[in-house]
Amino acid sequence: MASIGAATAGKSMQDAFDAISDNVTTEETKKDNMHTDNMPVDTPELTQHLNHHHHPNSSSAETISTTRDTSLAPLKLTSPTTPQEPPPPTNQPPNTFTGYLATSPTSPLTHAPFPPKAFLPTDIDIAITHCGLCFSDISTYRSSWSPTLYPICLGHEIIGTAIRIGASARAGIRLGDRVGVGPQGYNCHLRSCQSCSSGRENYCPVRVGTYGERYGDGSGVSQGGFADFTRQDSNSVFGIPEGLDSASAAVMLCAGATVFEPLKEHGAATPGKRVGIVGLGGLGHLGVLFAKAMGCEYVVAVSRKEDKREDAMKLGADGYIATADEEGWAETHAASLDLIICTVSGPGMPLMEYLGLLRPKGVFCQVGIPEGSLPQLDTMALVLNGTSICFSDSASPGNVREMLSLAAKKGVRAWTECRPMVEINSVIKEMEEGRARFRYVMVNEESEKEI
Ligand SMILES: [Zn+2]
Ligand SMILES: [Zn+2]
Repeated sequence: MASIGAATAGKSMQDAFDAISDNVTTEETKKDNMHTDNMPVDTPELTQHLNHHHHPNSSSAETISTTRDTSLAPLKLTSPTTPQEPPPPTNQPPNTFTGYLATSPTSPLTHAPFPPKAFLPTDIDIAITHCGLCFSDISTYRSSWSPTLYPICLGHEIIGTAIRIGASARAGIRLGDRVGVGPQGYNCHLRSCQSCSSGRENYCPVRVGTYGERYGDGSGVSQGGFADFTRQDSNSVFGIPEGLDSASAAVMLCAGATVFEPLKEHGAATPGKRVGIVGLGGLGHLGVLFAKAMGCEYVVAVSRKEDKREDAMKLGADGYIATADEEGWAETHAASLDLIICTVSGPGMPLMEYLGLLRPKGVFCQVGIPEGSLPQLDTMALVLNGTSICFSDSASPGNVREMLSLAAKKGVRAWTECRPMVEINSVIKEMEEGRARFRYVMVNEESEKEI
């Protein structure tokens, strides 16, 4: 990408951010810090999520109070006789981050500085090494789901190094750790929250996405991973186990989590279970990998063309259905599956034919988010088969941790193509043209050398 006049771009971008900030409420509606009402440490922790199309902060709910970050107290002066304390092993990030910003649905991303949200004691700053490119980044960029809050720094499959940890951050992350963040930036973690107190933080009604959403406490707007740094709530920051490569870990944080949770929840590893994964892209290829890693006996990949059959088999699939190339596929494979995870969406998809692949009492779980509606359903056929249709969004933090540890233990590697972060605009174009096999991961090349 041609380099952009940073000063000019930065100034106009700053004006735009100032405009956003003017709209941010600074009123503190609740005195309690979110962690004073936090759950016990041994409570299963949770989640991730995407839903940039929600604006949870416009609803009521508890808000976080902004408290001073005690970790940033000025360094103590020590007398010459006092043993000198070693300097804190931190490389404080600048007050302004720099990233690739979308300013409208159609203009290319612009490399420019942006203000991070205010640093709370519960936050962690991450120096970004890798960030996967997800289709929901593009839907948000293009305002396909709902109007996006521009300027926005996209990217919610983030891996990097923890370089600043708030004094009240969740235990378990240390400075210098390799960490990651998925699509969910913040969940309330309050006992009074049905979702958070039951291990389903990915459905917290006041969740804040990793980018493009205002925090309810007025601390700013979340911004994502196509940047040098990101600032996120520590409950949404995951330690990355050794043995799992950073590009794989990145794409697992959204694409992996999205398929892992419904596979687990609907018992893909139950003996005798036959599972179908519809769509063989970023999500679908991880669906095949994780279904096999968790012990599913029979996995069928369902895609349009024959040309992905070989890849499906290499990923570990036991069967393959090419819906555009295989005549009579719906009849041939009718009533052959117990669970389908559907990663594609669109008004034209053969939904009734997919549902016809299910045995009686089978479950069809839709995880791809359509930009329009799903096709119409033939209720009678579904009633007569006792079919369940459900939906799922990302995974709880507990399930994300379980997924990462399973991936490390079983040596699961996502199929990724790493590209320099500076190529983001051309990579988005390639993604929109359907050229990903199966996921692009943008890499900050300088910072990667330190890892
Ligand atoms: Zn995503
Ligand atoms: Zn909650």
